Amino acid sequence: MKKVKNLIVGCGLSGVVLAERIASQRQEEVLIIDRRGHIGGNIYDYKDRETGVTVHQYGPHVFHTNDENVWKYLSRFTEWHRFMYRVKAVIDGIEVNIPFNLDSLHKVFPRKMAERLEEKLISRFGFNVKIPILRLRETQDADLEFLAQYVYEKVFLGYTVKQWGVRPEDLDASVSGRVPVYVSRDDRYFQDKYQGIPADGYTAMVNNMLKNPLIKVELNTDFKDIRETVEYEKLFFSGAIDEYFDCKLGALPYRSLDIVFKTYNCEYLQSGPQINFPENYDYTRSVEYKYYLNEKSDKTILSYEFSRPFEKGKNERYYPVPDEKNQKLYEQYLREAESLKNVWFIGRLGDYKYYNMDQTVARALDFAQKIIKR
Ligand code: UDP
Repeated sequence: MKKVKNLIVGCGLSGVVLAERIASQRQEEVLIIDRRGHIGGNIYDYKDRETGVTVHQYGPHVFHTNDENVWKYLSRFTEWHRFMYRVKAVIDGIEVNIPFNLDSLHKVFPRKMAERLEEKLISRFGFNVKIPILRLRETQDADLEFLAQYVYEKVFLGYTVKQWGVRPEDLDASVSGRVPVYVSRDDRYFQDKYQGIPADGYTAMVNNMLKNPLIKVELNTDFKDIRETVEYEKLFFSGAIDEYFDCKLGALPYRSLDIVFKTYNCEYLQSGPQINFPENYDYTRSVEYKYYLNEKSDKTILSYEFSRPFEKGKNERYYPVPDEKNQKLYEQYLREAESLKNVWFIGRLGDYKYYNMDQTVARALDFAQKIIKR
């Protein structure tokens, strides 16, 4: 029987932060395993050989946070390429800013109408204010109701049905609330104080986090295959919580993505790094990666995301599906988890939460501190 003090399942951001903390703060040995053949989980990136462009294998990851601790912590392992994300969506054939903002209004409506809507929005909500689309739909003003319905249909409905298989109101409000309507001229996707991309990529950052000699990484290693042959003092599980329990209470649903990469023989193809397609095509968005690190090449590489339900053995889990029913099921698993003495769950899949990268790091740091104090 192989013996390890700390076993971490999953070499994604949660597992890696935790491994780094345990090794550096407790000076204890950590074995971190992952069933895939690379480190980094879904933030894994690599340099595409043909174009020399750094590509995100599991879709776009742009780091942003207001949490100074998280920013400082990650900055120990990477330099940053300062980068403010800008996203456009094609509606009625026109590229408009997302979040839908005052400039978007002027792009899609005749001038007088846009001015009237702009005034109403500002006097009703104030300037520089974010309004979730589901809330905007609740105003009693005919003009604003028209606007809300327009944005709901043109920006949110098609995209959300493609991405989640359900309408925005059938998901937790926090999902469409991630991308509110913005009464502002700020055209950035995020307003956080710290924004950027690791200058040498996410994989290099993760690699630096794993450099402590007390950390051992085993790839292509599935927990279920070693479960009976390894003895651990503590297990930290960042895989799917339902899978740990063999889905005995029922499987928690997840969304997956089929990401298709295409190389083009031109310098740039898009007007910016990300274009969303709420109305057209079967994919939700296309991403042109050379914008991220401002990489130069006479070719360019894009990804197209086709959303799918997660199916075990066929694809990867990307997103938990936040709604009331799934939350209840997750809580049942959590109660099972609480009865285990030496097993803890973390991360997007372990906590069944739609974390951003900074929330993932904050959660893992916070968790590590509690463990370290014990
Ligand atoms: N969304 C939308 N239209 C857009 C952008 C986002 O309807 O143009 C909704 C959609 O439901 C999406 C959610 O907002 O899944 C969150 O978007 P975000 O860009 O945060 O998604 P992620 O990058 O996490 O996939």
